[in-house]
Amino acid sequence: MPIELPPGTAAYSNKTPPPSNRQLFILLGLFLAGLALAIGLASWLAGALVWVIPTSVEQQLGRAIVPFYAAQAEPSPAQDTLNQLLDRLEPHLPTKQSAGRDYQVLYIPDSTVNALAIPGDRIIIYQGLLDKTESENELMMVLGHELGHFANRDHLRGLSRQVLLQLSLSALLGDFGSIGAIATNSISALSNAQFSQRQEQLADRVGLTLLTQAYGHAAGATDFFNRLNQEERSGLAILASHPPSKKRVRHLKRLIEQQGYQLGEKVPLPKTLR
Ligand SMILES: [Zn+2]
Repeated sequence: MPIELPPGTAAYSNKTPPPSNRQLFILLGLFLAGLALAIGLASWLAGALVWVIPTSVEQQLGRAIVPFYAAQAEPSPAQDTLNQLLDRLEPHLPTKQSAGRDYQVLYIPDSTVNALAIPGDRIIIYQGLLDKTESENELMMVLGHELGHFANRDHLRGLSRQVLLQLSLSALLGDFGSIGAIATNSISALSNAQFSQRQEQLADRVGLTLLTQAYGHAAGATDFFNRLNQEERSGLAILASHPPSKKRVRHLKRLIEQQGYQLGEKVPLPKTLR
């Protein structure tokens, strides 16, 4: 049996959603806005924390993390040469990025095509990456790029927010007892850290400056990334952790032009690295 409604009721409910629906939409909107704000705040906090963590805490963390990589590396003429190359870049770092630091290369004889900057001032170079370089200049660009990651503290950004928070608390409380556990949790995060286009461009900028200061010209700056670009779909480790190389090459070429850098003669790879 149909219920008789007062005149005008049907027309009203057809045109306008009932107030309860509207309230639901407002609540949902508020919830989504709150969620977006929380996510934004958390990533801002993580970005800010990397500048709060003092070098001393970073080095504590390094003491726990470095042995994991050092166990895979082996003292070799190649590692010695890589360290000599790094020594030629370091004098060109600004004082605030070189004071109290002890940058060294750990060379890991493994086919992985990648390089990493890890807490404890170590740059990991895998043999797979070395095998892909053809001149000393392009290898120096890779080393300079990794020094750029230290300058921008990207080696800490690779850690999870939870780890960054724990580290900041340790620093605040002067309690380093838990750093060993934090380090163990961080190793896979560091090896698989994803860097944004912006982080890569900042590191490339540092690398390019160091390369040009070491040789007096910028030849070789784009070679390595150019070659990667041609292998883009081959599933190399460096491509999983780094954004497309095509854009990076374009960015570097623009920088070289803007700075008026010259392109001179490239130096062949030292014998120990061929
Ligand atoms: Zn990078």
